[in-house]
Amino acid sequence: MDNSVTIHTKEERARGILSALAAEYPAAQCELEYDNPFHLLVAVILSAQCTDKRVNEVTKELFRVYDTPEDFANADIENLQRLIFSCGFYRNKSASIISASRDIVGRFGGRVPDNFDDLLSLKGVGRKTANVVMSVAFGGNNIAVDTHVFRVSHRLGFSGGKTPLDVEKDLMTALAPEDWSLAHHLLIFHGRYCCKSQRPQCGECKVAAFCTNSAAKL
Ligand code: SF4
Repeated sequence: MDNSVTIHTKEERARGILSALAAEYPAAQCELEYDNPFHLLVAVILSAQCTDKRVNEVTKELFRVYDTPEDFANADIENLQRLIFSCGFYRNKSASIISASRDIVGRFGGRVPDNFDDLLSLKGVGRKTANVVMSVAFGGNNIAVDTHVFRVSHRLGFSGGKTPLDVEKDLMTALAPEDWSLAHHLLIFHGRYCCKSQRPQCGECKVAAFCTNSAAKL
């Protein structure tokens, strides 16, 4: 078997998918509203299992009440729960936000760390959140795997991985590092606006030719 041909084909395929998605979604970017890395961190924690639109509505009011890591570190948890209630999972999310804020104040002088390992070391911050903050706030080459990235990566044959970490590793292998952040946004946009979970709009899909989802071929 000629491995060089296989690798070349995979690279061509990945490039073809990304360029088609980039043409389709030229404005693909983070849709969470924030004005500093800490606000982005809070917004990303809130966005789990919630739409960015809802998070933006909530944070508009939330950041008027609590602004800095110090504010959140000292927040009354019941008041915080009330303010973020509509984002869902409000108990876990409020605990995560307060824990991360206390860590930021106690260990990082009140500033969100700008490297992945320190971000991941914050209590309440998982791999997806750390990757989004690194990529969006600090311009790092990172791929965050959320539910859209996970689903679309499977359908487009980038990964058969069972966990977000498996998919993250497969995407990092398939794509050039300088494309990781953009790919993250493009896959989210495609999942959000076309390759939806229940009813993917395959007839409108600009990357249907690359799709491995058998249901899309019916
Ligand atoms: S053809 Fe359908 S299932 Fe495949 S990537 Fe496009 S929208 Fe998703």
